[in-house]
Amino acid sequence: MRTVIIGSGIGGLLTASFLAKNNYDVTVLEKSPRIGGRFANLPYRGFQLSTGAFHMLPHGEDGPLAYLLKLLGANVRIVNSNPKGMIFYGGRTFHYREGWKYLGWRERVRAMKLLADIKRNKLPTGEEAEMSGREWIREKIGDNEFVDLFIKSFLGWADSVLDVPAGELAREIKAALKWGGPGLVKGGCSAITDELARIAERSGGKILTRKKAIEIDVDSKKVITADGEEFPFDVLISNVGIKETVELIGRENFNREYLKKVDSLRPSEGIKYNVALKGKPRIGNTVVFTLDTGRINGYNEPSSVSPELAPEGYTLLMLHHALQSRNVKAERRKGIEDIYKIFPNLDGEGEILLIQTYLDGNPVNRVASGQAVEDFPVQDVYIVGDAYKPPGGIEVEGIALGVMKTLEKLGLGNFNEWYL
Ligand code: AMP
Repeated sequence: MRTVIIGSGIGGLLTASFLAKNNYDVTVLEKSPRIGGRFANLPYRGFQLSTGAFHMLPHGEDGPLAYLLKLLGANVRIVNSNPKGMIFYGGRTFHYREGWKYLGWRERVRAMKLLADIKRNKLPTGEEAEMSGREWIREKIGDNEFVDLFIKSFLGWADSVLDVPAGELAREIKAALKWGGPGLVKGGCSAITDELARIAERSGGKILTRKKAIEIDVDSKKVITADGEEFPFDVLISNVGIKETVELIGRENFNREYLKKVDSLRPSEGIKYNVALKGKPRIGNTVVFTLDTGRINGYNEPSSVSPELAPEGYTLLMLHHALQSRNVKAERRKGIEDIYKIFPNLDGEGEILLIQTYLDGNPVNRVASGQAVEDFPVQDVYIVGDAYKPPGGIEVEGIALGVMKTLEKLGLGNFNEWYL
């Protein structure tokens, strides 16, 4: 089976590795000089920042991505966070469990019941599934400011949006109950994408960089690149988004109803701040959810597990928030104000290294969580990556679940037990 994969993001490379191992004849086309898309290391002044992700897997060693890596025999190390999360609230940073004290006893009982229901798969359906997730939590637990701020910062960190439909939120909570908290990747994002590229190549796959796909001819089944080369395929995997794939095929090949759906898909957008601090790790391997901040939703410390990501004597932190307006300058200003609130001595202890904005063609997620994923309506063409994340799958875990679905459609394995 001749397989062309457009894009070498983590979705493309995961699929490439599985297909190459199953004797597909795999060619990955990557337009840029480097692989990994938004899941790669970005060297900067002696630090290893990232092109997108936080050098972290949302469900660590026990999530769907780690499972796929295990199946592939990938040589990567993921270290589960401990504690699973912390909270910054009222000027203090504390263990997430301490957060329970901000709930009244009635609210606590209701919250426990809700978690138990979610755990045994009693999830919202119909209209309830479509309502605002935060409103749903308010209805279920009570009008508690702390709880609402926690959900908001979780969503801002995990999905880069400040609300999702109740059905999606319930599944994201279910995922956390099932697979636990996050884990840092030893060596950062590139440790995974480089290893996937090695696995694909060892099994005969080809990865071609500086090869930009500019057209997909679905009639003669070939991809045409900017330099005029043609790549015939039996199976095409696209890691470059739904809208982009529709454009590459040509809108005239789709019916109006589908185009309307595609045009209504919304990305999630956000800003990431890379901060260097002098001295030892501050928080260690965990995520701090920041609750009473105007913008920042959370942060982590990738160098706590991988000191090599920062020069000697420094630690590297990544803070993130969902974009709340199109005024990027104002968003950044407010984000920076928050950083000084979290690290009042920043000027004496370190600096903001680089601020990365993810919007428009380079968003956080090409399709924000909570929007329906459907099969691509062209035979033998499959979408992987952050435009194809099944319900409840956050960040790269969602990408892994989407890759599982794609592998199943190709008759390669059964991953039913993983779906939320
Ligand atoms: P990600 O952004 O992580 O989802 O990865 C997508 C990858 O696809 C990136 O590495 C992009 O450089 C690459 N890419 C985007 N458009 C094209 C294209 N038309 N042809 C080849 N590679 C592409």
